[in-house]
Amino acid sequence: MVTQQCANFVGGQWTESGSGRTYVRENPADPDEIVVEAPDSDSADVTAGIDHVANGYREWADTAPEARADVLFRAADILAARAEELAVELVREEGKTLAEARVETRRTPQNLRMYAGECLRLHGESIQSADGGLVMTLRQPVGVVAAITPWNFPLNIPSRKIGPALAAGNGVVFKPSEFTPLLGQRLVEALTEAGVPGTALALVHGHAEVGKAMVSDSRVGAVTFTGSTAVGEAIHANVPPWVRCQLEMGGKNAVVVWEDADLDRAADIITKGAFGLSGQACTGTSRVVVHASVVNGVLDRVMERARASVVGNGLNDGVTMGPLTNAAQREKHDAYVELARAEGARLETPLRPGGPSGGYFAQPTIFSGVRPEHRLAQEEVFSPILAFLTVDSYDEAIEVVNGTSYGLSAGIVTGRMDTALRFTRDVEAGVVKINQSTTGMAMNAPFGGMKKSSTQTFKEQAGASMMQFYTHEKTAYFTP
Ligand code: NAD
Repeated sequence: MVTQQCANFVGGQWTESGSGRTYVRENPADPDEIVVEAPDSDSADVTAGIDHVANGYREWADTAPEARADVLFRAADILAARAEELAVELVREEGKTLAEARVETRRTPQNLRMYAGECLRLHGESIQSADGGLVMTLRQPVGVVAAITPWNFPLNIPSRKIGPALAAGNGVVFKPSEFTPLLGQRLVEALTEAGVPGTALALVHGHAEVGKAMVSDSRVGAVTFTGSTAVGEAIHANVPPWVRCQLEMGGKNAVVVWEDADLDRAADIITKGAFGLSGQACTGTSRVVVHASVVNGVLDRVMERARASVVGNGLNDGVTMGPLTNAAQREKHDAYVELARAEGARLETPLRPGGPSGGYFAQPTIFSGVRPEHRLAQEEVFSPILAFLTVDSYDEAIEVVNGTSYGLSAGIVTGRMDTALRFTRDVEAGVVKINQSTTGMAMNAPFGGMKKSSTQTFKEQAGASMMQFYTHEKTAYFTP
């Protein structure tokens, strides 16, 4: 397989890092295969990228909204036309299965089309004023947006940040995850081919140093970050209060299975949420909080489905679960298996941990007898590891579900509407799923968490809220 080359995009030119340093990214299913070589940039590269965008973004901001929309529509068309080759690259670089990758390569152009429409819907208000004059509000771009993204949805998540930021007329400096430079690059290639000028978009590849330099630059007007809570907290500490800051972070998402639940349905919902995307979705199911009367029935059914998983290279036919994305993820998974055993939880499956040799593979892993205070019940592992916790009452279930520092997604499986409604009100989560997996979101619905899962500043995805994040509202008073 060919090793692809990535470059920074600064001032409308594809360039190396100033130092000439590079790093390589391997295929997580076959680490001997180098997928891509990318610039290992530093703070000087970030400064250069921000220089061009800060000095030039007004040209894009002053472009007619219809023309900005056309550019985003064209970028969507380019990505849609390349969807299949992008899906293969996504499998090689990030580790999804081909079917999972295709969902992402279909969704990304749809995101851009939704935000293209928002270009034309940006508007202010007029307000009655006592002196017979006019008060009106107008929305203007915040200026330079710093967008920092994780590896687990390397097209979808950046498109949900760059799309609305550009739609509102901002300039964007974008740092993809160091584990997925190629997919980040593909998004920028499509946007620039479609007509986004080099003064409105910069791409800087690299590691944490790049992200740190972006959020510390005083010319940045808004920071939008998706990633771990630990990094989000560090970023927040670096961003002054007058700079917009939107952080979407980790989760410890639970599915409650109630006494009256259809157990096969519950098992399907849990299996999809826990082991889909190799357990590497921020909304992935990592806890099952189940009524004692049905725990054995649910556990047996989920174990049966987990054992039917085929773990391997996502490009191979029949594979249902790809590798973990990097060696650190794999080590973390193994460490939590040992930790959970040491805390007294029971490993139900697999009886022999590990996966196919050669890649960063892990098997679907299920622990029963987990207690709410166990670290496996409290901490995000971000791998196919699932904790079963047993409860005896509704109040206990709510206490357990809400008893972590996270609040991203939560679900309940029940046939009773009153239980579902009560749960929806009581649960501390930004997304609540009734008889659905904790994963999988509507692209046009608000998305974000509570507690340590999000800054809760502005919800992602939904059009109007996103456009508010990326614009200043100015209030103007006119006297005739
Ligand atoms: P991460 O926090 O390690 O990295 C995210 C990005 O931040 C990367 O581009 C990284 O290079 C950069 N970065 C690292 N240190 C930085 C620093 N000090 N300053 C600025 N930038 C820095 O996360 P990850 O491992 O790439 O992704 C997995 C995490 O993302 C999980 O915790 C998952 O729950 C979370 N996530 C959340 C959502 C959501 O919408 N809530 C969606 C996807 C993933």
